[in-house]
Amino acid sequence: MQLDLRTLFIVLVILYACLGFVCLFLPYRMPGSHAVTNWGYGMLALAVGAGGIALRGIVADFVSIVLANGSILVAFLFVLGSVRQGRGPGSSPFGWSVIGASVLLLAFFTYVQPDTRIRIVVSSLAITLLVIPPVSALLQAVTGASRRAKIFTAACLAAVGLVMLVRAALTAAWGASMDLHAPDFLQFASNLLFAVFAVLATLGVVWIEIEQLRADLARLAMIDPLTAILNRRAFMLEYERELSRCTREKVGLALAIFDIDHFKDVNDNYGHLVGDQVLRRIADTLRASLRGHDVLGRYGGEEFALLMPGADTAAAMTGTERVRLAVGERPIRVGEVSIPVTISAGVAAFGVNGSDWESLLRSADAALYEAKRGGRNRVVAAQGPPAALPSSS
Ligand code: GH3
Ligand code: MG
Ligand code: MG
Repeated sequence: MQLDLRTLFIVLVILYACLGFVCLFLPYRMPGSHAVTNWGYGMLALAVGAGGIALRGIVADFVSIVLANGSILVAFLFVLGSVRQGRGPGSSPFGWSVIGASVLLLAFFTYVQPDTRIRIVVSSLAITLLVIPPVSALLQAVTGASRRAKIFTAACLAAVGLVMLVRAALTAAWGASMDLHAPDFLQFASNLLFAVFAVLATLGVVWIEIEQLRADLARLAMIDPLTAILNRRAFMLEYERELSRCTREKVGLALAIFDIDHFKDVNDNYGHLVGDQVLRRIADTLRASLRGHDVLGRYGGEEFALLMPGADTAAAMTGTERVRLAVGERPIRVGEVSIPVTISAGVAAFGVNGSDWESLLRSADAALYEAKRGGRNRVVAAQGPPAALPSSS
């Protein structure tokens, strides 16, 4: 079998170009995420470089040697930009220095003292150096959902660097031919392995993106967009978890339901946008006054639920009272206006005022109603088990 390098490079042009275009037009690419786009530009730079090399002997050496190798090296700056989640090539004085020095050496060993062996050694070592910044950037960021994907991508890039290091060493020892048609197992195998790891690293980058999107979606599904606290669904999941923990540890669990007083008036007097701001600020105050295990959620429009694991009625009353005072302490300033806001709350304890979510919530609601009826801006504890649900007949 004839290992024809020119044919290999033509195949690589097609391969890198396909990878590049797929990355640029990938449908799940989200606005604001440049990782896959940058990677796509990197693959296109590789395609241009491989194309230049495939034309060796057909076009000027400046194109097929200096520009082609320069383009391959610049691809690694886009790789750096990609793993740093930036836009465009990664700004790296180290990277640009390596590229500048390599291009000068390549030109020198093309025109002044032509030497294919040294040129291959130079370009291979330059690639080995250029994979270091993206590999270390990936390894420094191996946290969160995309952890395994980042390690995989870093390993693929490191493998590219290693293949090029071995290529440099063996080429220095064995020499290389200027003739693209000469059978040269080392050059064939090293370029093929480079391509294999480039494909795997591309899959790695897409994997990172998918994991990050999945984590973002999971977070978005749990967080209320206006107040940035847990939404009702997430709060209920936390409730289930805390209930089984408190049952296991045989400690109390209390619930407080907060409702803003006369909130309709805020909307009516200042408009819904100001109302939204007030809601956000109240949520901030509630969040700031939480203790260790407390769980806060937006239960309805202007109603918040606070779960207090480990608390009996007395402890829950103290905690809820503290939150009420924190909200009412000073008026909320929105732009030019200063709006005095108070909240009322009803508190219910698990096992005392209810033995499941529905009865606990009904007790807390009944206590909240009492707080409103008693004049608002107060906290009321539920009395006994909840009243039975009105019959539907
Ligand atoms: P009360 O003291 O009895 O609670 O009086 P209230 O005016 O607060 O009455 P209620 O609790 O029934 O008010 C609910 C109001 O909250 C009505 C609705 O316009 C407003 N609201 C609910 N969700 C939002 C929201 O996301 N943004 C804004 N701006 N207003 C909301
Ligand atoms: Mg309400
Ligand atoms: Mg209200």
